[in-house]
Amino acid sequence: MFEKVLIANRGEVALRIHRACHEMGIKTVAVHSVADANAMHVKLADEAVCIGPAGAKESYLNKANIISAALMTGADAIHPGYGFLSENADFAEMVEAHNMVWIGPRPEMIRKMGDKVAARQLAKEAGLPLIPGSDGEIKNVLDAIQWGEVLGYPVIIKASAGGGGKGMRVVNSADEMEMAFTLAQNEARSSFENDGVYMEKYLSHPRHIEVQILADNFGHVIHLGERDCSLQRNHQKILEETPSPALNPEQRKKLGEMVVAAIKKIGYSNVGTVEFLYENGQFYFMEMNTRLQVEHPITEAVTSLDIVREQIRLSAGQTLDIKQEDIQFHGVAIECRINAEDPNTFVPCPGKIGQWHVPGGLAVRVDSGMYAGCDVPPNYDSLVAKLIVSGRTRNGALMRLKRALGEFVIEGISTTIPLHQEIIQNADFIDGAYDIHWLADFLKNRAG
Ligand code: ADP
Repeated sequence: MFEKVLIANRGEVALRIHRACHEMGIKTVAVHSVADANAMHVKLADEAVCIGPAGAKESYLNKANIISAALMTGADAIHPGYGFLSENADFAEMVEAHNMVWIGPRPEMIRKMGDKVAARQLAKEAGLPLIPGSDGEIKNVLDAIQWGEVLGYPVIIKASAGGGGKGMRVVNSADEMEMAFTLAQNEARSSFENDGVYMEKYLSHPRHIEVQILADNFGHVIHLGERDCSLQRNHQKILEETPSPALNPEQRKKLGEMVVAAIKKIGYSNVGTVEFLYENGQFYFMEMNTRLQVEHPITEAVTSLDIVREQIRLSAGQTLDIKQEDIQFHGVAIECRINAEDPNTFVPCPGKIGQWHVPGGLAVRVDSGMYAGCDVPPNYDSLVAKLIVSGRTRNGALMRLKRALGEFVIEGISTTIPLHQEIIQNADFIDGAYDIHWLADFLKNRAG
């Protein structure tokens, strides 16, 4: 097992990884920007190295500085967390070239899955149903118009190298295609340095359902059930729950088995998530995330497994010692992403936190790197805390969530807590009757 792990991230996920490492007796090295010198992940780590100025490009995305920090401190592995360099195959290769272990899947797997067109092909070969879409990338407007006709409007143009809900454009008719295609290509080029785009049928009322998997280097693969991440704003997840209110046990079992079989065929190892859209009883593969995900704690809450601990073990070359039949799912878990944003306009709201009091009690977990008096820098993602609650039933979890949100005190900045409080009292939400478009309608009606 590793002796020292460098955590190439910040905020709550850096803490999450630090905690797993310390419970395993592994020392940690934090890296931080100048803006994060007083951050909690820096205070808790055994060692800390400043890797650059506030801007992410010069710090958390600065590959050379992170590698130097790891070599300087004698780390034997690097955990990238999520976001930043977590899906950067070049960086993973750099880590290995310096004789350190990359805590994640093999770089070539990251590269394959990071190209969404290639990922669709791999998924198809592995027997997963795809969203109807273009065969490969779309090269020009003519091609795009032809595919629009084949698939039928509306369609969505997506960046092959896309991520984080960026680089997607819905097209409602052939008239809009020329403009949309050009904008999508430009957006893809400027955001991902790759102007490849492809097209899918735009589904009108799907749910986003994803499956967490664990796989070792010896062909053992298990799934940890699904997460329903349909509550989204601008294609970004706001609240997640498990199990999905839309699935029955039989559908759940079939989905899990389908994913495990596909992962075995693909030969993927480490933790990962296979994302689907689900509409009219059908699952359609969307993409695979080759990293730890923000919403992993809800799965931990219902399985009692520590996913980061398993990830570290798998990366150290250990065998998966849990079998599918060992996995028992208990109750329901829900996560609210609490962002430093105005709850009405969603404008980011960085600043200095005044009072900070987190809820507690039975089955309540708060993952956050914040504390009273700390700064929320404007340079990074606006996530300040994840509130995860569980209950024996969905109703029980919702009652607990309402209670916990009411206890949360964050002064000095605006947060999305009031939005969550409204959502969870809505009748559709309480019935579990929502799809990926539901939140947009809810926000429109609320604005009046
Ligand atoms: P990213 O990697 O940027 O997160 P995804 O491909 O996972 O992109 O899509 C993110 C979200 O965009 C999905 O959860 C869904 O809400 C929406 N979306 C993507 N593809 C489609 C589609 N074909 N039809 C309808 N919605 C879609």
